[in-house]
Amino acid sequence: IAPLPVEALRAQFPVLAQSIHGQPLAYLDNAATTQTPLAVQQAQLDFERQDRANIHRGVHTLSQRATDAFEQARATLKQFIGAQAEHELVFTSGTTEALNLVAQGLWAAGPGQAWLRPGDRIIVSGLEHHANLLPWQQAARQSGAELAILKPDGAGRLHACDLAALLTPRTRVFALTTCANASGERPPYEALLAQAAQAGALTVLDAAQAVAHDTPVLARLDCDFLAFSGHKMYGPMGTGVLAGRRSALARLHPLRLGGDMVESVQWHTARFAGLPARLEGGTPNVAGAVGLAAAARFIDATGRAAIDAHVRALRALALQGLQGIPGITVLAPHATQAGLVSFVARGVHPHDIGTLLDERGIAVRTGHHCAQPLLEHLGLGPTTRASFALYNTEDEVRRLVQAVARAMEVLQ
Ligand code: PMP
Repeated sequence: IAPLPVEALRAQFPVLAQSIHGQPLAYLDNAATTQTPLAVQQAQLDFERQDRANIHRGVHTLSQRATDAFEQARATLKQFIGAQAEHELVFTSGTTEALNLVAQGLWAAGPGQAWLRPGDRIIVSGLEHHANLLPWQQAARQSGAELAILKPDGAGRLHACDLAALLTPRTRVFALTTCANASGERPPYEALLAQAAQAGALTVLDAAQAVAHDTPVLARLDCDFLAFSGHKMYGPMGTGVLAGRRSALARLHPLRLGGDMVESVQWHTARFAGLPARLEGGTPNVAGAVGLAAAARFIDATGRAAIDAHVRALRALALQGLQGIPGITVLAPHATQAGLVSFVARGVHPHDIGTLLDERGIAVRTGHHCAQPLLEHLGLGPTTRASFALYNTEDEVRRLVQAVARAMEVLQ
């Protein structure tokens, strides 16, 4: 694989060309949000300038152009994630909305109709972001189902034998991440999803942390529901996707009831439309969908394999450097497919490290990363996390390592 032309790519991300506290910005907070290239910004601007109108109901030309742009964006994204004829894709405001739609949609139809019933079991992995845990806590409470956690071992790894021990004939859902955003752990999700599907569960995959460099391919997975966010794959904020098997999506009771998601309405009843409209009530973020499709095209034009190799190489470099600093422990050092490193520093609060790094122009994230139960299970508190994108350089990683070493000297 040819290396990425990083300098040429950086020129397409104007936000990177700035100084922070007198130092060149090293943006290493990509697991939280990536930056957008000019192509994505231009696609959104072009839509706003030329095609903006409400979709699906209009006979006028602008409305038809806007509808075409929205549906073209859907087609592009379906192709991006390897959707087959059996799959459908719904636009959401992000991973969080997508996962809430699944969890609530599986019980909201009510007794006798809903997929989740009292006494059923929901299994959620212990690596999850709160966005793939809290909706299941609520779905369990509301439906009377029981929530079981597939807990990782002391090193933060998930095991098929532990899943086997939790699976029962009444397991209806298994929810899992492609990569733990707090630790970088990349579970063997292909095998775990297949194992749960074999047992009759609907499978839910949170792809937020893999979509930008190690995109899951629906055609190759035992996956009923796939969720990801646009802003973590060089796309607009407030955009996202819920994709999956049409048969599974059809089980979801719609949560946004209103315009554009119905076939016919009477005073006391309504007939919902088919997929995907059924799950997209109200006016969607059309410019956002157009921008998200431009991000998918940008990733493919740049080359998925090259992006993945680049991000992994930066992670390996960071891992090597950080492990050489006394007092630093990196979580999930074995997770070579991750695009991030998360670490704890003996006797030093991550907030202080993050502040010292910011003074040197280096942006990292500190805290619990919305995964408090996982960090507590591992006996850890908040961490410092550096995460990499296609525009990051080896030089930035070296600056990170040096700055962390310096922070440890000052703070310890
Ligand atoms: N899941 C994972 C693994 C994440 O990393 C994130 C974002 N940190 C989310 C879900 C939530 O994504 P969003 O805030 O875009 O809805």
